[in-house]
Amino acid sequence: MANQKLKSLAERDPLTGLYNRRYAEEQFPLVQESCQRSDEVIAIAILDLDRFKGINDTYGHLGGDQTLNTVAKLLEKDFKRDGDIIVRYGGEEFLIIMPLCNALKIESHLDSFRQRLSQVIIHNPDDKTEFSVTASIGAVIANGTYSALLEDWIKQADLNLYQAKNSGRNKLVFTTLKDNNNKVNR
Ligand code: GH3
Ligand code: MG
Ligand code: MG
Repeated sequence: MANQKLKSLAERDPLTGLYNRRYAEEQFPLVQESCQRSDEVIAIAILDLDRFKGINDTYGHLGGDQTLNTVAKLLEKDFKRDGDIIVRYGGEEFLIIMPLCNALKIESHLDSFRQRLSQVIIHNPDDKTEFSVTASIGAVIANGTYSALLEDWIKQADLNLYQAKNSGRNKLVFTTLKDNNNKVNR
């Protein structure tokens, strides 16, 4: 029991209860290997809250934390297929690792998540005011053979995120990656 608790502390973000970055980095090589073996795709999405600094400035740190928890709950409700890994990657950045996802549906699923998030009312525990938040999402899908390094996937997803931010925020930019000459970077 004590061991279980220690493990969870090491793997989870204490605010949202989502997996942390360290867990994602440890887990990804296993996911990738298995997808590579069965010739399956992986999709990776990075979600960054828009103007989050403004939310903290206007609604206080508690309002900011409430926002992070609201987003985390919604992510958990929406991405719960076997194998999905939802991560609080940094301050207001979330990473979703989706092995074996349906390549035809994943883009619209992500975009519908984005739309629904924008309609959620967040209640500030501090002063009972109400507000909402939007997110920009950069996402990629590729064959598992694309790369064994999570950072390679994230680099590409980040380029898309940058475009989503630059084209006005509250956007999804989604691309399909070609294999790196079918050679896996190890
Ligand atoms: P952009 O739309 O370009 O992403 O703007 P932004 O304001 O979201 O981006 P920026 O990176 O400037 O600010 C991120 C803010 O997130 C700054 C920091 O105060 C806040 N933040 C990071 N971690 C936490 C946290 O655990 N709780 C709260 N309340 N705020 C956090
Ligand atoms: Mg950020
Ligand atoms: Mg942000």
